[in-house]
Formats: sequence, structure tokens, C-alpha cells
Amino acid sequence: AERGRIVVVGGGTGGLAVAARLCRELKEPDVTIIEPSEKHAYQPGWTLVSSGVFPKEHFIRSEGELIPDKAKWLRDRVVGFLPEENKLETESGRRVGYDYLVVCPGHQLDYGKIEGLDGHLGKNGLYSNYTGEGAEKTWEGIRNFRGGTALFVEPAGPIKCGGAPQKIAYMADSHWRRSGVRGNIYQMFLNGKPSIFSAPLYAEALTEVMERKEIDTRFKHNLVSVDAEKKEATFAVDSEDTEQAEESSRAAGGRRGVGAPPKMSRGEGTVTISYDLLHFCPPQSAPDFIKESPLSNDAGYVEVDKHTLQHTRYPNVFALGDASNLPTSKTGAAIRKQAPVVVHNLIKLMGGADLKKDSEDYHGYTSCPLVTDYGKMLLAEFDYSLKPRPTFPPWEHDSTKETYTNWLLKTQGLPNIYWHGMLKGLA
Ligand code: FAD
Repeated sequence: AERGRIVVVGGGTGGLAVAARLCRELKEPDVTIIEPSEKHAYQPGWTLVSSGVFPKEHFIRSEGELIPDKAKWLRDRVVGFLPEENKLETESGRRVGYDYLVVCPGHQLDYGKIEGLDGHLGKNGLYSNYTGEGAEKTWEGIRNFRGGTALFVEPAGPIKCGGAPQKIAYMADSHWRRSGVRGNIYQMFLNGKPSIFSAPLYAEALTEVMERKEIDTRFKHNLVSVDAEKKEATFAVDSEDTEQAEESSRAAGGRRGVGAPPKMSRGEGTVTISYDLLHFCPPQSAPDFIKESPLSNDAGYVEVDKHTLQHTRYPNVFALGDASNLPTSKTGAAIRKQAPVVVHNLIKLMGGADLKKDSEDYHGYTSCPLVTDYGKMLLAEFDYSLKPRPTFPPWEHDSTKETYTNWLLKTQGLPNIYWHGMLKGLA
């Protein structure tokens, strides 16, 4: 039988899914999960919490209940790796040895990269739904908003769930239309990236959603600071693009945002916009202890082969999820396809296989359930090629359609698949 001490760093989506599978597939599993947090959250739920569909508690479980029975839980935080010695170090001063290592500590939220947030987040119109508490506060802000300028912001760099910053913009629009205040609101979506979505077919469909919802959309606008007292947000821009964007907004008859447009002032390479409500997705990166470790690549992510998920320099190390360098959109859905590949290849390696010749491959599958209204969702699914890869035969017409069946999948189906399938090593 395959033997060896397997240590999993991070008991989030990736860590729990891999550990559960290992415990099912190995006869005598020796699996330790190192995870500091007592609670585990289904993060895709934050979009629904911030649009008032569920309370945050609906998506939170205790970590202890989710750790597979046959796995050990070390409640500690990893601070460094010594891969030459097959050891890692923890915050409490332990040195933990391993034969095989799976690294998946997720993404770090870099709030510090936006100047002026300190002490202001979650009140006076400044919100972010990337945590449970933040999602709850966001809903409070959206529900109580009666009019003015509402900005929704996505950063230039990599984020988990590429669609999340726009989903909340769509849900806010829908809520405001239903409650009859949308006519008093000028809504904008400002994205640090050059396009709305990485996969072109879905980008086209989402551009139509933005138009239908009359959201004034701007690209290459990267939020760098806020003045919470004055309620002003400053974006780094390419000045040429700003002019073009402003022109195209005017060409659309000035109707794009609804309500009265905000005060905007242009500086050198910046534009400052006054707001009444600002929702932003924080800049993100691999956790600092990964960036500083020998496991990372130049961009700071754990460097693994994009097909086998085995480390490029340390063969007994694997990585998956948000902290890995896999060139696909960072989602739990991607991890659902990565976890079985890690487990398969790790067990092969334990049996002495050479993964360069004999491995199971991951092809970059990821998906993003884009809720566009209460009762509507568009399911974007694609892989490394960025071409659509629908799981289900299209129920209605094609995979770029927003449907109620998809909404049921988002609100009921996917959370159930997560808790009862993925985290149990079954789906
Ligand atoms: P995580 O699940 O974040 O887990 C990382 C774990 O590592 C955490 O438990 C953390 O405590 C632990 N950890 C951190 N540092 C250390 C350390 N030093 N030592 C030990 N442990 C450590 N995905 C979808 O598929 N569909 C969606 O609709 C969707 N929507 C989203 C909406 C929002 C608002 C957000 C925030 C995310 C969304 N996601 C969605 C993304 C999805 O939640 C993540 O991609 C996924 O959880 C990543 O899994 P992971 O295991 O890499 O990291």
C-alpha cells in the first residue's frame, strides 16, 4: 500500500477537497491539515449575502466538522517552508516534517493597497463583499441607498472569482429598480482591467447586461485611494482612455448611468470621482509567506506544472487553488476539477510513477455563476483555451443565457454540491 506523511497547508476549499479524497482513496491515510481558522465559509455565498438573499450564517460551518474523520487537524499557521529538508515551520514554533506536501492557503486580500480605507470600511457608503461581514454591511448599504452616485470597482490584478465585482453591481441595480429608486442613481462600473471578462463569448453577453442595466462602464480605471470624508475615489488611468470612455458615454446619450452624473476631475494619470456609495473588490495576491518562500515563482504564486499540478522544482510538492500559479480564473469550481488530479497524481507518485510520463491532467476548467438579477444567472464555463466548456446540455438556447434554472443552481444546487459532494471527496 502507498505510505507517507501527507501535509496539507490550508483547510479551505482546496485543502478540504484534497484531504477528503486522500482519506477515501488511501488504505492507511496519514493526512494532516494545517489550518488556523475555526470557521469555514462558502465564499461564493457572499454575493447572495450582499444582495440580501441569505444571512451570512447560512454559508458558515465550523472547520472541525469539515475535517475528514481520518485526517488530523493541526490548528496553527504556516510561516515558512524548507523544501530541501521536507519540513515547514509554523507560527507556534513547530517544525513539521512531511513526505508529500499539498499547498493551498488561498488568496490574500490586500486592502492596504488602497489608500485611505483605514477605519472607514463598512460604513458611510464604503463597502466590500469579499468577507462575510463585509457582505452583510454591503447589503445594509445597498438596501438603505436612495440616490446619488454608486460606483462598483474591480482592481487591475488577479482576484478570486473574476465575476464577483460585477455580480454585485447587477444585483444592486436589480434591487434599486424593484424598490423604485434606480432613477435617482447614477451607477458606474470601473474596472482596472481592459475588458469585462476573460472568455470572449461571455464578455459579449456581459457587455449586453451592462447596457441593459444602464451601468456606465469604464476600463483601465484602477482604484488607488479614497477620501472617505469627502467621498471621493481616485483611479489611476491612461488619460487617453479616460477621454475615449467619456466620449463614448456622451455618445450613448448620457443615459448610460441614469440619474445625474457625478463630479469628475482629471489629474495627471488619475481621475477623481465623487461618490455616495462605493463598492470595491480589494486588490489581491498570493499570501506573503508564499511570496517569501522557495516554492513561489516571480509573481509570488506556488509554481506548479499547469497540467499535473506537481511543483516544477520540488516533485513531492503539489499546489492547487488561488495560491497556485495555474493560469485560469481562480474559483472553487476550478478546484473541483483540480482536487481529483492532485490526488490521482500524488498517489501515483507514492507508488513510484514518473508524472512526466504517466499522469492525469488538468485542462484549466473553471466556471463563474454570474447572477444578473433576482432569479437569473448566466453560467460561464471555460478552460485554458478560454472557449466555453458547458457541463450541462444547454437547457434553454445556449450557455450565454441568463436563466431561472441557473439561479436555482447558484442558490441551492452549488452550495449542496460543495458541502455534501466536494468537501466529502465525492464530487
Ligand atoms: P480558500 O478556500 O480561501 O482557503 C484557504 C485556507 O488557507 C483558509 O482556510 C485559510 O485560513 C488558510 N490559510 C491561510 N494562510 C494560512 C497559513 N499561513 N497556514 C495555514 N493555513 C492558512 N468560486 C466559485 O467557484 N464560484 C463563485 O461563484 C465564487 N464566488 C466568489 C465570491 C466571492 C465574494 C469570493 C470572495 C470568492 C468567490 N469564489 C467563487 C472563489 C472561491 O471561494 C475561491 O476560489 C476558493 O475558495 C479558493 O480555495 P482555496 O482552497 O485556494 O482557498
